[in-house]
Amino acid sequence: TSGIISRPQDEPLGHFSRIGGDEFTLILPNFADKKYIATVAEKIISIFNEPFQVAGREIFMSTSIGIALYPDNGDTVETLLKNADTAMYRAKEVGKNTFEYYSSAMNSKAKVRIKLENDMRRAIDNQEFLLYYQPQYDIDTGQLVGMESLIRWKNEKMELVSPGEFIPLAEETGMIVPIGDWVIQSACRQGTIWKDQGYGNLHLGVNLSPRQFFDPHVVEKVQSALDSTGFDPHFLEIEITETAMVQDNDKTVQILNALKGMGVNISLDDFGTGYSSLSHLKMAHIDTLKIDQTFILNANLEGRDGAIISSIIDMGRRLKIKVIAEGVETEESLAYLKNKNCHVAQGYLFSPPLPVDEFQKLLEERESV
Ligand code: C2E
Ligand code: MG
Ligand code: MG
Repeated sequence: TSGIISRPQDEPLGHFSRIGGDEFTLILPNFADKKYIATVAEKIISIFNEPFQVAGREIFMSTSIGIALYPDNGDTVETLLKNADTAMYRAKEVGKNTFEYYSSAMNSKAKVRIKLENDMRRAIDNQEFLLYYQPQYDIDTGQLVGMESLIRWKNEKMELVSPGEFIPLAEETGMIVPIGDWVIQSACRQGTIWKDQGYGNLHLGVNLSPRQFFDPHVVEKVQSALDSTGFDPHFLEIEITETAMVQDNDKTVQILNALKGMGVNISLDDFGTGYSSLSHLKMAHIDTLKIDQTFILNANLEGRDGAIISSIIDMGRRLKIKVIAEGVETEESLAYLKNKNCHVAQGYLFSPPLPVDEFQKLLEERESV
């Protein structure tokens, strides 16, 4: 078959190099069949399955490998690297810790990616991003107590693109940083507008992806958003996921301390889906836990789901951490959460995320109740 490179067996097994960031290349000049490459890839992945000890800490890493074959997938170094890169992204997409061979079908996917990336770059300048707001209710009193800002992208075709479709790519390319800067500014500005209209005491959730959280200027940026908009930091809830917490412990604590020092609240989003290390809660910087919607949606409340939910609520209560349940779609879940003394609920049962003018109506109606 093609793709075989025949070389004398006494040449080195492969050539290894770092091409930048967290990406490495391995050139394998000597192999007889594709199965051999798979063996090497599996071996590498299995080595990374074990945690590393770095400065006394355990670090877990995932590995994604893309494979391009000479001459089938290119006959220049550039093409082979580019195609291996495309295959690697595919490996990441299908769940990491795996390897993928390049195929030309991927190339068209890669083109879609590149287009999305370019579109996103333009979208910032064209002001195509907007924020929706989803209300949050105190379960005990039924009062509106806050809202989460959720980004939407109204692209050139006026289609509404949901964050699930572009946030991961924005995160990967770093584009999330300028987008996120805009989000914090806009959310705080809107929050101040509503406060000035007399709708005070509403908490405002703003999502921060890991890359934004570790942006060296994140603290200044939050401060500048607060300063320029006059939003009260005590009502700002920065939502981070556990993925951000596990990346670099010292750095994480440092950033959390700085944010807390400014009076900002920290909310642990998607709780229960990530690493869920209880040591994160021990760090005592967390003000709010958001139980991930996967626990609430279609939950078997009499079974394991219910046990998990009520344990999280219980733990939150004991640690004096506010617990917000996401994905509350049914009266049944709400009744369950109420029974378990959960603090706050957010979900379609109350309202989907709303554009500014509709959220405004909701605020006005609340006034007239
Ligand atoms: P998240 O922060 O966990 O936000 C909650 C998601 O659950 C939202 O999806 C919301 O529309 C959806 N949701 C709310 N209630 C229900 C319900 O009852 N049932 C169901 N099935 N879903 C419900 P959305 O707006 O598509 O956002 C998805 C994710 O994208 C967010 O998850 C967040 O991780 C990310 N995201 C959204 N906006 C931003 C942003 O401004 N910056 C960053 N970095 N990430 C964002
Ligand atoms: Mg969130
Ligand atoms: Mg969430």
